[in-house]
Amino acid sequence: MSKLDNLLDNVPTDLWINGKGRKSSDGARFDVIDPATEQRIASVASASIDDANAAVTAAYEAFPAWAARKPRERGEILRKAFTLMMRDAERLARLVTLENGKPLSDSRGEVAYAAEFFRWYAEEGVRNLGANSISPASGARIFVHHKPAGVGVLVTPWNFPAAMATRKIGPALAAGCPVVLKPASETPLTMLALMPILEEAGVPAGVVNVIPSRRSGHVVDAMLHDPRVRVVSFTGSTDVGRRLLRSAADNVLNTAMELGGNAPFIVFDDADIDAAIEGAMIAKMRNMGEACTAANRFYVHEKVSDEFTEKLAVKMTSLKMGNGLHDGVAVGPLANAEGRDKVIELVDDAVGKGAKVLIGGKKPEGRGYFYPATVLANVPDNAKMVREEIFGPVASLQTFKDEAEVIRRANDTEYGLVAYLYTRDVGRGMRVSEQLDFGMIGLNRGLVSDPAAPFGGMKQSGIGREGAHEGLREFLETQYVSLNW
Ligand code: NAD
Repeated sequence: MSKLDNLLDNVPTDLWINGKGRKSSDGARFDVIDPATEQRIASVASASIDDANAAVTAAYEAFPAWAARKPRERGEILRKAFTLMMRDAERLARLVTLENGKPLSDSRGEVAYAAEFFRWYAEEGVRNLGANSISPASGARIFVHHKPAGVGVLVTPWNFPAAMATRKIGPALAAGCPVVLKPASETPLTMLALMPILEEAGVPAGVVNVIPSRRSGHVVDAMLHDPRVRVVSFTGSTDVGRRLLRSAADNVLNTAMELGGNAPFIVFDDADIDAAIEGAMIAKMRNMGEACTAANRFYVHEKVSDEFTEKLAVKMTSLKMGNGLHDGVAVGPLANAEGRDKVIELVDDAVGKGAKVLIGGKKPEGRGYFYPATVLANVPDNAKMVREEIFGPVASLQTFKDEAEVIRRANDTEYGLVAYLYTRDVGRGMRVSEQLDFGMIGLNRGLVSDPAAPFGGMKQSGIGREGAHEGLREFLETQYVSLNW
């Protein structure tokens, strides 16, 4: 227990508003649970609508001074935030594992990835370039620049408690926008732990506010109807994203939506199978499948299906399941009981419709929301897991015969976040990529997330992009001055 206490030392457990911890207006709190033990880790303040209002006030009042800082000054603060986050990386990684359950190796990767958004936007914020031209018709000067859009409301999921937040905070701050962040109720501690770090980096009070809440729907809705708010940036499920888009319509907010996925992972018969296995293990098992980018449907050419399936099953069998804080563990618990129950339901449904369990497929006894690494072969097209996000360590395998067929099946989804494909023929790889309706393609790669690349989806996987220069634009408004001199 003492180890745990150390980990929670200096982690605020109240709301973080205007640079200070503060209880919720009605004293409400909720428990954060360790998914490996089902024990309470901490009790955290639960924001009310009044608290959300106070957080928006703090952000709104901080806006003029923050927007007026020189881009380089904001950049230096973000650069320092990167350095300090890396200084504290191990502590933050352990905290991520404690509240989310993922293995420490995944948490370490996440914290480094998360910190990179501060470094990237420290550099990108000074490249808010405009344009200048002459109107062909009138001869007036067309002078274009980009202004900070205003207060941003950020809503983030539990699967990457650090990175999904810094991917929004980094560009918002670089653009000159203050924010109010509502983290997921499962994992509020990571962002609360980041607040003293941002303060040390020089982020002024009120520029980043964090309000965990068990009353997400009411609290977020109130903020989206506050005329002082101009941006809503959400990462989470497509269902909640749709709801927020409806709310955002009333005040016509700028919206950035990073929603669900249903990634196909296509292995052609000319693929380097060992490389495909390596990519598959990352695309499927990073975060134990609890990722919007997780490979959800494997389509393997029938000529190489036996080899791929056998090798994948061997690799998946070798993964050790246990408490993510322990050495050598590759499969921690899922983040919550509902997530685990959904995986059980999807596997049972697929098996009931004829899928064959090669390994795993059975919930272990005992405490913790564990589910083992599982490989299912011959999954039929009508299985629910072909349509819905599995969000767990389950590889669902199907075969295909030709290119046109697999493109059609891969695109047959409302989602369009990421697709993976493996082939030694780069010409084919590019041809197929162009026909896939997905915002990101991993061509002979099982990982696409990169702060320097535009992350985001087509179709019902979202609107807008995070990372790269595009991420900055989500927090900027274009203004054009028609000018005579
Ligand atoms: P979720 O949609 O249930 O919750 C996301 C956030 O929204 C949480 O903070 C939650 O408290 C809040 N929320 C829930 N209901 C709300 C409401 N009515 N109004 C306002 N806020 C509300 O998602 P989750 O279960 O936390 O995360 C998993 C989902 O996130 C998956 O669908 C996954 O694909 C998606 N995701 C997408 C990306 C991406 O970049 N596209 C990245 C990570 C996760």
